[in-house]
This record gives sequence, structure tokens and C-alpha cells, in this order.
Amino acid sequence: MVRVPREEDFARLDREDPLASFRERFRIAEGTIYLDGNSLGALPAATTESLLRTIEREWGGDLIRSWNLHGWIDLAERIAARLAPLLGANAGEVAICDSISVNLFKLLGAAHRLRPGRTVVIARRDEFPTDLYVVEGMCGLPGTALELRLVADEVELEAALDRRTLLVLWGHVDYRTGRLFDLAALARKAHAQGAFLLADLAHSAGVMPLHLDRWRVDFAVGCGYKFLNGGPGAPAFLYVSERHLPELVQPISGWFGHARPFAFETRYRPAPGIRRFLSGTPSILALRALACGVELAGAADLELVRAKSERLTGLFIELVERELAPFGFQLASPRCPAERGSQVSFRHRDGYPIMQALISRGVVGDFRAPDILRFGFAPLYNRYREVSRAVAIWRGIMEEQAWQRPEYHRPARVT
Ligand SMILES: *Cc1c(COP(=O)(O)O)cnc(C)c1O
Repeated sequence: MVRVPREEDFARLDREDPLASFRERFRIAEGTIYLDGNSLGALPAATTESLLRTIEREWGGDLIRSWNLHGWIDLAERIAARLAPLLGANAGEVAICDSISVNLFKLLGAAHRLRPGRTVVIARRDEFPTDLYVVEGMCGLPGTALELRLVADEVELEAALDRRTLLVLWGHVDYRTGRLFDLAALARKAHAQGAFLLADLAHSAGVMPLHLDRWRVDFAVGCGYKFLNGGPGAPAFLYVSERHLPELVQPISGWFGHARPFAFETRYRPAPGIRRFLSGTPSILALRALACGVELAGAADLELVRAKSERLTGLFIELVERELAPFGFQLASPRCPAERGSQVSFRHRDGYPIMQALISRGVVGDFRAPDILRFGFAPLYNRYREVSRAVAIWRGIMEEQAWQRPEYHRPARVT
């Protein structure tokens, strides 16, 4: 018979956790079980002081001299160098800038310019909407011949791919269900038809080892404010395989991507390396915060992070299914840990008010329309005990029917 985990098992797992010491390097309010690090990562303890120093000493004291004196001019490059090994890339393939949405536009534009004869972008219908919106926006530009073709899954992708395909745009982890896709297999499929693979790493960067070079991914984008803990609206990153870099010119050709920004030349000349994917002046405050988050992720062994993530999510599924069996929650995430990102989702008709009740009792997850309760697990700061505590609180809410209160049914702008 399979033994179900008990309270003391969770305490023991925490004691034996090789990542346990990372928790105190974050600031998480007492009484909060934070299960939304896949949406907005927690605050690293070092960030506050770093920002205060940047504001008071650098901006306030040294003002414009800080670009040279305090290395503002290459701060993004230094963060990219720290991030690159987490992506399985070399430093010359990664840039930190803008948002995923803007970086997608730049990469799509660069790819289209390189292969104007290929006009189809293939993406998953259930992809995170901004990815689809940006392709739609680019397709609508006069002078581009692009069209977007939506597919349900890899099987439909296979059938849709042909010699007209410019690129396949695919998220590594489905933001609703947490399903993890095989990027190496997707790259092989795309390449067999001469197309590129552009991967969206929003839900995988910082929470599992990635091997973009080895997987032969062509381009990628990812988020700074999710598992990289860079703070709300943190700059995003982009990756371009060195195989393609010299040939690519991106459409938001701003001065920070110029070969010599301070030569103030009349004509645009792209910088030789990945810097050509920069556009305008970066937010130094935002970069300082991101640096603290990336530093923490870089200090952890991502193999251990992944192992703990699989365990946290696996235990959560097991406990929810045991403790909440009468209440009709449907697992929306893959049961096999190897096919799951670092989140667990359950479907329920009353998912929205149930999530609001959970949040009001300190268990912070989120809700994704139409019926998904989503719980993200960040192995650097989540503890095993939080899994059992969260499920116990959830069960209390269901037994008392606390979620029926009218205040939990009021829709908010951000869910
Ligand atoms: C969070 C997320 C984004 C966010 O895009 P921004 O333009 O940086 O706001 C994009 N794609 C996916 C898959 C996401 O999960």
C-alpha cells in the first residue's frame, strides 16, 4: 500500500532540504503562504538596500557620472552574463531589455526580414495571449506578408509546418495547465521544414535547468519578474542563437543597439553582437532589482531546484486529491512530474471566489479564466510545510463554505 505523507514527513523534508537556506534571503510577510511566484516572484532581501543605494548615492550623489562611475552603461550586460548559464546559453547570446511583448516584436521582425519568402507564424491557440497579440500586430503592418496560423498541439503543428513556415512560437510551459513542452523536439520539428523555433520561457527560466544551445532553440524570450524575482515589471530577456546573430537586424533600431551610440551618427549601424537587440535607455532602478533576483537564482543548483519543484508540486497534488476529494476539483496539470512546470492547476466552477477566500486566509495563488485555480511553487523560498498548511486552510474554506461570501465574488481588475 502507498503510504500517504503526514505532517512530520513535511517537517523532515524541510530539515533535509539542501535549498532551505535560500528562504531567509527573501522577505515574505509572516502568515503568508506565497504560491504565486510564477506570476510575481517574492522580494529578495538584498533588493531594498541595492535600490536605496542606487537612488541615494548614485542617482542622488553622482548623477549622470554614474553611467560610467557605477557601471550603469553595462549593467544589463552583466546581468545577462549571470543569466546565460541558467539558460544553457553563452553570454553573447542573451540580452536584458524591455518586456516579452516588445522582445517578441523585435525577434519576429528580425526573422521576417531575414527570410521574407516565408510568411507563416505557427503558434498554439492556448498560448499566453500577448504572444498571439504581438504576432497579430505584426501581421497587420503594411508591408509585412505575415500570417498567424493557430494549432491545438504538437500533432497539429506537425501537419501545419511546411516550407512557408517562418517560425514556430511556443511557450515552454502552458501558463494555465503547467504542461511542460519538449523544446528540443519542437526545434527538430521546426528545423525539418527549415523554420525557426522561438520559445517563450516565462514560466521556466530560473526554476529548472535549460539548455537552449544544446536543444538548438533559435530564439527565446523570458520574464524577469516571475521565477527570476526581479520585481514587478522587471525587464525581460531575449536569446538569439549565435548561429543567427550576425545576420539578424531588428526593427526597433534604437540608439542603445547602435554600434557606437555616443558617436551620434545619422544612420543606424547595428552593434556587432547581441547588443543590437537593445533599443532605448534601460531603467537602471529596474535593472538593479533584477540583478538581485538573478544573483539568487544563479547561486542555486538548478538541478536541485528542479528536483524540489517536482516534489513540492507532486505532494501538493497528492494532498489536494486526498483532503479535498469531496469538493469536485479537477487536476488540470500533468500528473507525471517530468511533464509539469513548477505550478499546479485545478479546475472548479467556483474557482474565482474560492481563490479569493484562500488569499484572504494567507494562501496566495491566482485565478485564470474561465475556471483555473493556479498555484506556483518557487523552490528557493517555498517550504514543504507550506504545502500541507495550504491544503489544510483550503479544506477549512470548503468545509465552512467560506467562499460563498459575497465579497469573494466581486471581480477584480487583476486576477
Ligand atoms: C507572463 C508572461 C508574459 C508577459 O509578457 P510581458 O510582455 O513581459 O508582460 C508573456 N508570455 C508568457 C507565456 C507569460 O507567462
